Amino acid sequence: MSRFFSEKFAELEAYVPGEQPKDQQYVKLNTNENAFPPHQAVAKAAAAESEKLHLYPDPECLDLRVCLAEKLGLEPEELVLTNGSDEVLNFAFMAFCDEHIPALFPDITYGFYPVFARVDQVPFRQIPLQEDLTVRVQDYLHAAGTIFLANPNAPTGIALSLDDIVRILETNPYNVVVVDEAYVDFGAESCLPLIREYDNLLVVQTFSKSRSLAGGRLGFGAANPEIIRDLNTIRYSTNPYNLDRLTLAAGIACLTHDDYNRRNCRIIIRTRETARKALTGLGFEVLPSSANFLFARHPAIPGEEVYRRLKEKGVLVRHFAGERIRDYNRISVGTEEQMEILVNKLEEILKEDGRMNA
Ligand code: PMP
Repeated sequence: MSRFFSEKFAELEAYVPGEQPKDQQYVKLNTNENAFPPHQAVAKAAAAESEKLHLYPDPECLDLRVCLAEKLGLEPEELVLTNGSDEVLNFAFMAFCDEHIPALFPDITYGFYPVFARVDQVPFRQIPLQEDLTVRVQDYLHAAGTIFLANPNAPTGIALSLDDIVRILETNPYNVVVVDEAYVDFGAESCLPLIREYDNLLVVQTFSKSRSLAGGRLGFGAANPEIIRDLNTIRYSTNPYNLDRLTLAAGIACLTHDDYNRRNCRIIIRTRETARKALTGLGFEVLPSSANFLFARHPAIPGEEVYRRLKEKGVLVRHFAGERIRDYNRISVGTEEQMEILVNKLEEILKEDGRMNA
């Protein structure tokens, strides 16, 4: 820390993204990227747009917003586009929380939420998940604060039903409820259709996972136009050109070929279920996942050790040190080939320990 760094950030612990190693080629199953590259049209669209990089991008992102609104059956005024969904989440902490309105979210969820709360200097309360790592819906009824729920949750992969979300929305008419649907396209139910009925609902989605665009940094918020206006007030007060020309062009091409994305999601869901069965067969306990990752633990090997030994064998997964989840690893669902390698390496580890017949 330099001697100039504001004291208000002295205790700030920054978010630590998953490793992006440069030292060797890993089977990379640690950051929940899509197993497949974007449609070829995406690269072409971005390359063509690069000729206009001397000009600022459209701060209203109108072409992409119109295209996305059409795809989702919404109006463009019901959408705000952001630099990854992290940005709209951060805007929501800024816009809808303050010293009287704390942020409320599970103790085990997306690790960026407490970091946003701290950097935005708003109070927050972490509500423990139940023993089985599911959300207890009652804890969020008539809550005094802005609610942030990842659905499916991360890193568990467990989804809430739409009925449960409706109960939370109905009992919190004076609070914004943010539903972070980063992984929703891998098997959960989206509450996008509810934004017309509930003016306290903000749905957050991303192109990073189901649309193979993590490197393009494209996310969005969907809500009634008043909430969107608030988020735009924050956006125009921080970075009106938050989406660059290449990403705007890539986003439109990506939506034009959305059937390609949907097909890849179906493949990933199928691969996830095959991998889940294989891991269960090796003695792992695997939580029921509606996402593009599995959260798994083995009763005989500590999570940190599984992570380390897999890494030594060239497979990267994500381990979290949190007390209640340190037995687990979060394993992104890659291609069928990548998942076969993962299962083979885990089998090797178990054999090395004499836990399976060689
Ligand atoms: N929400 C959740 C639950 C996530 O896991 C992630 C990705 N790490 C994000 C939001 C943010 O993703 P992005 O900024 O790439 O849209």
